[in-house]
Amino acid sequence: MSLDVPPLARTPQEWAAALAPLAGRPFHARQIFQWIQRRSVLDPERMTDLPVALRRALAALQLPQTLTVAQERKATDGTRKLLARMRDGATVETVLIPGVTGPRGRLPSPVPAMEEGDDDEPGEEGQGELVRVTQCISTQVGCAQGCAFCASGVAGLKRDLGADEIVAQVLAGRAALGEGERLSNVVYMGMGEPLANYDETARSLHLLTHPDGIALSSRRITVSTSGLVPEIARLGAEFGGKIGLAISLHAADDETRTRLMPINKKYPLAVLLDALRAYPLPPRRRITIEYTLVAGRNDQPAEARKLVKLLRGLPVKVNLIPMNPIEASSLGPPEMAGVLAYQKVLCDAGYSCFIRRRRGDDVSAACGQLALLGAKPRVRVDRT
Ligand code: SAH
Ligand code: SF4
Repeated sequence: MSLDVPPLARTPQEWAAALAPLAGRPFHARQIFQWIQRRSVLDPERMTDLPVALRRALAALQLPQTLTVAQERKATDGTRKLLARMRDGATVETVLIPGVTGPRGRLPSPVPAMEEGDDDEPGEEGQGELVRVTQCISTQVGCAQGCAFCASGVAGLKRDLGADEIVAQVLAGRAALGEGERLSNVVYMGMGEPLANYDETARSLHLLTHPDGIALSSRRITVSTSGLVPEIARLGAEFGGKIGLAISLHAADDETRTRLMPINKKYPLAVLLDALRAYPLPPRRRITIEYTLVAGRNDQPAEARKLVKLLRGLPVKVNLIPMNPIEASSLGPPEMAGVLAYQKVLCDAGYSCFIRRRRGDDVSAACGQLALLGAKPRVRVDRT
């Protein structure tokens, strides 16, 4: 059975099962996992601590390259968008977003209110020169959810990504880091709905956090979802609430939310909020509420007041994202004054509320702008 799992998606236990017919020992399985996940080495000839016979046997299996980086584009703000081409030709995008830093590490933002909250990060001593990079990864080719403001949803779902294809994005991201940069956070906020591809997403989380692999701390990983209630519960149970959770809310009443996000018909706000209350969040951690502000649809102070009431009692921080324009829709962001007015209502009510800065603008790498290469919108999605 283990040989059905692509090499990059195999756990050490699965490698052990795969190696049994090749006379490999369990500790060899661990070594191979480390070579692949920690050092991105797929060529068995380079796995120098393995017995020569085992290297030969592995070479005969021909461990395939999961993806190639077909294009890399750099925005003026340092954000990089990588176009990853899978073996079947499908392409997805992954984005590297460097933190705001200076010669002594993180500099306070010139506009503190504009900075996204990073309050869960402990200080890092002795790493003054390192630039911490957040990587945004994709979980599907396209997306079936059809949110009105999102380019990924426009062409519909082409296919799910495998865990190997999700992890390979992180390996490619790591390889693309510049000198002095360190991959510090991974956010599942690229193309696709991670929880609609639950099994592969969960497997990728186990692989990325495995101590013998990339070994990311689960608290540095955030899965963003449009609100698939049963899978939120599964994620909470499977990882003990340790994986960061971001919920794309975008509205404070069902009518508005359903117009923006069809998923709300299936899991309306009351059901979704119950799922958030039940999420086994560790102490002092918070759920991120994402709220894309769309002019004339969900951006009025009255709606902010509704949101205040809706979220009362939940451990949350709110990220406001002025909508990034997309080709397929005439919807757009409110004026900055409107964004600030919306934020003020939440701040005055005691919520941590940040306006997410636009990153990677000039290479269309900002939230919701990741589109399928060459995909034409099936319909214009300005139906709200
Ligand atoms: N499918 C998941 C994760 C990917 S989208 C989800 O919906 O949560 C990541 C975030 O970008 C979501 O909060 C999404 O609503 C937001 N987003 C999508 N399109 C956007 C756009 N055009 N402008 C701003 N934010 C957008
Ligand atoms: Fe899919 Fe998320 Fe885009 Fe909605 S916002 S269409 S769920 S990727």
